[in-house]
Amino acid sequence: MCPDKQLTFQPIAGMENELLQVIDALPGLVWTALPSGQVDFLNRRWREYTGMSAETILQCWQDAIHPDDLPELLKRWSANLSSGEPQEMDARLRRFDGEYRWFLIRTRPVLDASGQLVKWCGLNTEIEDRRRIEALLAGETELLELVAAGRPMAVILEWFCRLVESVAPGCYCSIALLQPAGTHLEHGAAPSLPREFIDSIIDGPAESNPCASAALSNEQIIVSDLLSDPRWALCSWRQMALHHGIHACWSMPIVAASGKVTGVCSIHYDGRRRSAPLDQALIGQIARIASIAVERTQHDATLKRSEAFLAETRRLSSTGGFSKRVSTGEITWSEEVYRMFEFDAARPVTLELIRSRVHPEDRVSFDDMLERQQRGIDYEHEYRLLMPDQSVKYMHVVAHAIRDASGQCEYMAAIQDVTERRRSEAALIEARSELARVARASSFGVLTASIAHEVNQPLSGIITNASTCLRMLGAEPPNLEGARETARRTIRDGNRASEVIKRLRALFCKTDTTIENVDLNESIGEIVTLFRSELHRSGVTVQIDLAGNLPCVSGDRVQLQQVILNLLLNALEAMNGIDDRPRRLLVVTELDANDIVRVSVADTGAGFGIHEPARLFDAFYTTKPGGMGIGLSVSKSIIDNHGGQLWAIGNESGGATFSFSIPKQSKLRKDGNGGSAHWIAGVTDRQQSP
Ligand code: ADP
Repeated sequence: MCPDKQLTFQPIAGMENELLQVIDALPGLVWTALPSGQVDFLNRRWREYTGMSAETILQCWQDAIHPDDLPELLKRWSANLSSGEPQEMDARLRRFDGEYRWFLIRTRPVLDASGQLVKWCGLNTEIEDRRRIEALLAGETELLELVAAGRPMAVILEWFCRLVESVAPGCYCSIALLQPAGTHLEHGAAPSLPREFIDSIIDGPAESNPCASAALSNEQIIVSDLLSDPRWALCSWRQMALHHGIHACWSMPIVAASGKVTGVCSIHYDGRRRSAPLDQALIGQIARIASIAVERTQHDATLKRSEAFLAETRRLSSTGGFSKRVSTGEITWSEEVYRMFEFDAARPVTLELIRSRVHPEDRVSFDDMLERQQRGIDYEHEYRLLMPDQSVKYMHVVAHAIRDASGQCEYMAAIQDVTERRRSEAALIEARSELARVARASSFGVLTASIAHEVNQPLSGIITNASTCLRMLGAEPPNLEGARETARRTIRDGNRASEVIKRLRALFCKTDTTIENVDLNESIGEIVTLFRSELHRSGVTVQIDLAGNLPCVSGDRVQLQQVILNLLLNALEAMNGIDDRPRRLLVVTELDANDIVRVSVADTGAGFGIHEPARLFDAFYTTKPGGMGIGLSVSKSIIDNHGGQLWAIGNESGGATFSFSIPKQSKLRKDGNGGSAHWIAGVTDRQQSP
């Protein structure tokens, strides 16, 4: 395009030849223009750079401006002329070889002594490198946005290749990923290269092409001229590359922050190129962005996979998640929780909303759980929901407290719908207790019959002997010898009856024991674990406070666990029907100063009321309609045999605390038969609470 054919190149009037030479020798592209804007001088560099002749350049200089940039440039130049102020603008200039490169064009007005504008002069400086780096930086930001938007890896890598191709015109970019085993490549992206060429890269063994070599050796590999490079002479990839006109290739490994190679980024050229310093800087930048693209998208994909996995697991196990900031009370629910509570997912979650679903009977314990949240400790809780159709759901919550940098507490919790499990447990418990009732009734019947049978014989003997004795004493003369003999028989039968009772007692609670070192903390843990669902079902919160320094006691693990289980069951039963206060169970272990291990089970149940605590340990003492009244008496007997004590006290705020203590080295009472010990239980040794 030659906008002004009349103009011819004229040296500026008055300018010395010497000065002209200096300007021509300047490393920048210098030009001047008349106040009207007409260009009247372009220095030798300008001509050399664009390859235009001195004769035509003044008419045709606009032909050297990239057609996309020319309209904007002329618009700004015209605004510049009106303002008369210095200006800076960017435009691409075509080099003599046809390649366009970015330039910064600076203009300055030249004024005479009276301040009148006489000339414009300008300097064009090449800023291609800066523009490329800026384009890459902008690209990096955009790429991160794509990753954040969750775009698929293929889209992101293709976008990256196109970015590289736009900042390094004339090149074709490809990305191949290293498979997890680190021995083979797989296709990533190569939007401008034929697939068969890419296949020749990824299918080839290591060392068969520069891309695979770079990835497997973790080194940059430059092939500036494929025709003369001997390294690939025998590789089939070379034929394929030349077939598609590829003559040069830069391959750089993509290295993750951890130092692991994740792939290779290659830039292919279809002409011969040398690796200039600019290209090296650019390549470094490209490799860095490629590593971000691959690492972030892989990370994102892994995260998405595990999120999907988690969501599926949650769906299958009817588990939802929620978080709660303790300071603000802000609660966030997962979709699953909304489904469980049957609330619209658009509804903001508030405590009132949750509470409106909580079963009225569980509201006290629910509030108790909220109160415990204020303490910022991990907790587990179970409560029921009463749904609008009057159906009941059982919810089990496991919450973990975390603290942010400012120390604020936030709960991350899992909530599971355990309704089905609770229903089948309830059915099982129902069946079990029915079975136990039948077994108890029948064993009681059998026991009673056997007691009657065993005791009846000596009793009738005593009665017969006593009447014979009376008859002998009433005879004339009295038969003293016979009376003495029958009295002796009466005593014998009395002793036999007492012996029978003794044997029955022994039989009742006689079990072989194994003496071992028992860790009571561990035993409590085992029992509470077994017992947990029953506790949850009953809406009881358990607090376990175990002494860290608790030594083992020597004794019978099973028997001691039987005592603990009995105390827990009693506590649970004592809390049945308590709805005006939280149902809480506290299990504590302590070590006294004189090496005595103490276990306490405290509840918030009904307490003893008017009953005297000491009577509780009597055999067959019970206040429960279906009770047998032997649990505590057997427990007491077991603890006595460990050389310890069992006692009960009423709690001030309601409920009771049952405690037992055992010396660290407890001595079991043994019978004399070869060292096996027997518990003698069921007898009421009235013992006051210490
Ligand atoms: P049972 O449980 O069959 O009644 P136990 O010997 O275990 O037999 O208990 C005897 C009695 O002691 C119970 O009926 C009850 O009145 C009282 N008792 C036991 N544990 C507690 C407790 N934690 N709180 C209040 N009373 C209790």
